[in-house]
Amino acid sequence: MASQTCAYCYEKINPRAVVCPFCGRDLPSAPPAAPASCRFPLWIPLVGLTAATLTGAALLAAEFLRERRHWLD
Ligand SMILES: [Zn+2]
Repeated sequence: MASQTCAYCYEKINPRAVVCPFCGRDLPSAPPAAPASCRFPLWIPLVGLTAATLTGAALLAAEFLRERRHWLD
């Protein structure tokens, strides 16, 4: 993608240009480099979810072992 064509005068222009140098009209700007989702670190809810799952599993396992000890008595 070395160049783009102006939608108004069809001259070849720099793809990063925001104004056509030939006809002077505003060009549709390129999308921003970073998507909006990249601003929020996704690992924070993932870590929280993993910690909650592990804690719940540990509590369930402890409860299960305690109950099983009653069965064996
Ligand atoms: Zn133009």
